[in-house]
Amino acid sequence: MEKAFKNYSVRIKIIDSPLSLLSSEYNREKRYYDGPAILERIYTLGKRKDYFRTLGIINKDIFSKDRNDIVFGIARLPRNEKYKKNGVALISLTQLRKKERNKPNWGEEFKKRIFKEALHELGHTFGLHHCKNECVMQFSNNLKKSDEKPFTFCKQCKNKLNTFFIQNI
Ligand SMILES: [Zn+2]
Ligand SMILES: [Zn+2]
Repeated sequence: MEKAFKNYSVRIKIIDSPLSLLSSEYNREKRYYDGPAILERIYTLGKRKDYFRTLGIINKDIFSKDRNDIVFGIARLPRNEKYKKNGVALISLTQLRKKERNKPNWGEEFKKRIFKEALHELGHTFGLHHCKNECVMQFSNNLKKSDEKPFTFCKQCKNKLNTFFIQNI
């Protein structure tokens, strides 16, 4: 991740104290967690420490009302000033881990997916939207799409990213 943002000299800190999930965030019937509710708690945590961006990683399915579906990840766009200052994103590992378990290099595939989805959601926190170019910002709601998209931002998204950092750092 440091490499992906090397132009902006960001420091990455891994916080290994897990956030407990709340029973109010769990939908017993459908067996998934309320993504936006967890996202908001991560935001509060990140804001308290004044982290520029906070990325949560969860090992449960998360549901997004916006998509009306279980998603790989969610993020807040910096339209709102508070998310511009302390951005927040969340990715779920459960769906990314699925399928092709019998593939010999499955572990590698899984790691690649995690990286791509994390980068994608962080991209949203910097104001990037879904992109049709050869770009990590391509929308992916299935593993095939996730596997096919590249690890990097396209030129257009890179330019937008540059502009965001120039204006906000
Ligand atoms: Zn997206
Ligand atoms: Zn792009």
